[in-house]
This record gives sequence, C-alpha cells and structure tokens, in this order.
Amino acid sequence: MVNRVYNFYPGPATLPETVLATAQEELLNYKGLGMSVMELSHRSAPIEELISTAEKNLKELLNIPEDYRVLFLQGGASTQFYMIPFNFLPKGKTANYVITGNFAEKAYKEAAKVGQVHVAASTKEENHTRIVTKEEIQLSNDAAYVHITSNNTIFGTQWQEFPEFAVPLVADMSSDILSRPFDVSKFDLIYAGAQKNLGPSGITVVIVSRKFLDISAEQNIPTMLKYATHAEKNSLYNTPPTFPIYMVNLVLEWLKEQGGVEKIEQQNRQKAQILYDVIDTSDGFYKGHAVKDRSMMNVTFRLPSEELEKRFVKEAEENGLVGLKGHRSVGGIRASIYNAMPVAGCEALADFMREFRKKA
Ligand SMILES: *Cc1c(COP(=O)(O)O)cnc(C)c1O
Repeated sequence: MVNRVYNFYPGPATLPETVLATAQEELLNYKGLGMSVMELSHRSAPIEELISTAEKNLKELLNIPEDYRVLFLQGGASTQFYMIPFNFLPKGKTANYVITGNFAEKAYKEAAKVGQVHVAASTKEENHTRIVTKEEIQLSNDAAYVHITSNNTIFGTQWQEFPEFAVPLVADMSSDILSRPFDVSKFDLIYAGAQKNLGPSGITVVIVSRKFLDISAEQNIPTMLKYATHAEKNSLYNTPPTFPIYMVNLVLEWLKEQGGVEKIEQQNRQKAQILYDVIDTSDGFYKGHAVKDRSMMNVTFRLPSEELEKRFVKEAEENGLVGLKGHRSVGGIRASIYNAMPVAGCEALADFMREFRKKA
C-alpha cells in the first residue's frame, strides 16, 4: 500500500481507504462491462441501477420513510441555499433561519435575495461558540420553513438534539450527515454536499418529503432549480456527475459494512472524546472554541499564541497529520474527523498534542 497520511482537511476530506482501493480496482472495467463507470452513458441501465442502489442504500442507512426521495444534484450545498427559497418561500410567507455559523448565514443571505426572511435566533455576537437553546428561537408569523445547520464545520459546534416546530424543518447536514442516527421524518428537506462525510466533491445529496415535492411541482421556476424535476426523473433529468455518485455509493456500502450509523456514531463519539480529553486536561494550553454543543466532526481549538499555532500545524504535517489549520474566522486549529477518519488517526493526533505541549 502507498504511504497515506492522516488527513484532517475539512472538505474535500479523507475517504475510506478500501473505497479508494475498490474504485481503483474497478476503474478500467466496471462490472465486467469493459469500460469505466465514468464512460457509461447516463441513459444506460447500469447507471440507472447505480442511482437507484445509492438511493436505496441511503434510505436503509438513515431509515428514511417510504414517501421521501433521495436526489443527487449539482452545484454544492451552496446552490441549495437559494434553491430552497425558490421552491418553498412563497410571497406573503417568511423563511426563518437559525444562524449558528458562516454557512447558516450564507444560506440566510441567499434566501433574502429570493423573498422575506427572518433571523429566528443567532449566536453571531458570541462568534458561534455554541448552538442556540430552544427557548431562544423566536419564529416569525407565517413561517414557510425553519432552516438550521446541523453541524457548524468552521466553528466546531453541533446540534445535540434537533428542535421541533409546527412549520417544516429544513437542514443543511453537509458536515455531519450519516455520523449519527436521527429521525428523518421530523424534516421536510435535508441537504449535504458530499465532500465531507459522503464522498468526493461535485455532488449534493438531497432528502425531500412528498409534501415538499408537491409544493415544488407547482412552482413556475427554471426546470433545473425545481426539486420535482429531479425527483420525477430519478436524478437523470440532465447528465449527473456519475463518477461522484458511484463514489458516494461505495461510501454508503462501506458504512453498511461498518455496522451502519449506530456503530459509526459510537466510533465518532470515541474519536471526538480522545481529542477533547487532551484539550480538557491541558491546563489551558489548548483552549476549545466551542463552549458547549461541541462537534463530533470538527474539533476547533486555540494555542497560547499564533506562533505556536503555526508551529503546531507545521510539525503535525511533518508527522503525517495533515490539514489542521483552522478557518480564518476562528483561527487556531481545526481537526476534521469525519466518519472515514480511523480511531488511530485521532490517537496519533492526541499523542502529538501531548508531546507538543510538553516541548512548548
Ligand atoms: C462545506 C459546507 C457547505 C458548502 O458546501 P459547497 O458544496 O462547497 O457549496 C455548506 N454548508 C456546510 C455546513 C458545509 O460544511
């Protein structure tokens, strides 16, 4: 095997090694068809089968109710920011946003270009060091939907329990989908760019209720921006990114082999604990950005000085621990430890953190 490092990049992010090996093995000849999966026509039966298998695998893993659809779309999670209000924010209604991070704010700003919006709660003044409490959320009258971001990739906070409202709930789950079980039926739409927990970049997974698809079908908007278009055509209205869909399906099959979402959650809790323990027992040398609602996916922390942070990143890299520089709005260090990061990767980072502190 090639020498691989532990990759803590926030996204595109590390993928299971066995998934990459399978892709390599099948690259020249997919299922005995004598060509690569990326050379197959999107109108061919093997691609139709691939897409329906990927939908089936995701439904199985997340226990998605029968009347929901799984769509494979393009344009990243960022395209969902405006596609959602285009479909579900009619005149006279207000879209409600809970702003717990940069991406939540971006989603809000895009919706503001489409229709009327309302900030139902925000942690911006505290630089997003926590998730809002249920009591802090104040919905507007005539709310069309409430939008939340399940995991704040940049700040390292994560909803511990999802809120429930009398209006439809929409969630950006780009950085923690499939990291833990949850009740899909509480949401009308869930979306996730694949490049964190699902596969390579270039594909966005959308889980959408029948109710929302019916609303979407009635909208007079561009065809490609309409969820109903993609649901009716099984994500084959136009040419989808077939290779990324293939990769996502391999990741889903890998996850099933790991024992599914319950099993991976246990492992994710263990992995995050390994790092938070080092932070919490460092006598303030490592200082976590999140004060509560700490994320299992993105562990963010500072060191006593920016100089030490620079050295930390550099020396970590020399030790095969790559991609640890934090986002500029938080600074410091961010360790992204998505599903595909093995426990051994977190242990190696924890060892490095203890050693670094001793030397500093
Ligand atoms: C990465 C990320 C995005 C942006 O995704 P793109 O696919 O680059 O548009 C949006 N939301 C969250 C929570 C993310 O982590």
